[in-house]
Amino acid sequence: MAGLYVHFPFCASKCIYCDFYARVRRDWNPYVEALLRELSERREFLKGVPPTTLYFGGGTPSLLPAAQLQRVADAVRATFCLTDFEEFTVEVNPDDITPEKAAALRTAGANRISMGVQSFCDEHLRWMRRRHTAEEAVAAFAFLREAGFDNLSLDLIFGFTGLSDAQWAHNIDQALELHPEHISCYQMTGRYADPDEEHCRRQYGMLQQRLVTAGYSQYEVSNYALPGRESRHNSAYWAREPYLGLGAGAHSFDGNRLRQWNTPDIDAYLASRPFGSEQLSDREILEETLMLSLRTCRGLDLSSLPPEGRGVLKRTTLEELSRAGKLVLESDRIRIPDEELFVSDWIISRLFPEYTA
Ligand code: SF4
Repeated sequence: MAGLYVHFPFCASKCIYCDFYARVRRDWNPYVEALLRELSERREFLKGVPPTTLYFGGGTPSLLPAAQLQRVADAVRATFCLTDFEEFTVEVNPDDITPEKAAALRTAGANRISMGVQSFCDEHLRWMRRRHTAEEAVAAFAFLREAGFDNLSLDLIFGFTGLSDAQWAHNIDQALELHPEHISCYQMTGRYADPDEEHCRRQYGMLQQRLVTAGYSQYEVSNYALPGRESRHNSAYWAREPYLGLGAGAHSFDGNRLRQWNTPDIDAYLASRPFGSEQLSDREILEETLMLSLRTCRGLDLSSLPPEGRGVLKRTTLEELSRAGKLVLESDRIRIPDEELFVSDWIISRLFPEYTA
């Protein structure tokens, strides 16, 4: 399986907490031309394996006219002789979604939408400099449903200064009232992060408890889905499947050792598309495998590691973590128990001393 990611680094304004590569500018016509050029020049990167998933991320892809998004999707289909994708996700912000835009995204072939809601509290939305209210997010969700989307994901943020447990419970419950197929929740990082770790851990536990009770399964540290609605595109990243990333700042991976990344600078990308590249060592592959798989609830299949990789994981450390309730050992598989996923970085760092979270 292979995936194709397209980065749209445009935003209408910048949210206070955001460290994604995104700029407040609207010159997307030359950018789309550059994307189409890159697609044509790098079509061989996936070695003849057509992408089964397409993901338009950002930035804010929904800021672009749907006709431009359709142009890119059509070009990907034509390049790989595909009629459609198993999963085609577009990230959207609620303020961009009108009934017409929702219908146009369906026409472009998208079958999954990931909407950045972040909060259902208007006071927090204003503070984050989001451009929508809670009511507008609910309306946008309804427009997407009316357009025929049956696979919708919402993003929420917790663990920031000033978010009380009662407000967090309200946010989760509001999200559940909409019945999305998928929910992603991220802990605030950086200067706005709540310094009280215990408080953050409690909010993480509230989330797990409420979503699981509502029928969602957690399948990764930050991701929950109704049965069968896990993100295929993101799951492939965690399984180290190959993907091609197009656009400023996008990364690509050949599924083995080669990682490449485009410059994150839009102007440089438009001018000459400089890129970086590295070949991973055996050690780096092992480190990546551990980091990515142990963030998932399935964990790591030890038999998938080469013998020297298994040698790095000391039996005594595994048993010690298992006794402390930080790790579950199941014949050839190790995983972090759900109640300890909040500290997964710390646990991985114990398993693999060179790993730095
Ligand atoms: S809309 Fe998304 S990408 Fe743009 S600034 Fe806000 S969080 Fe960042």
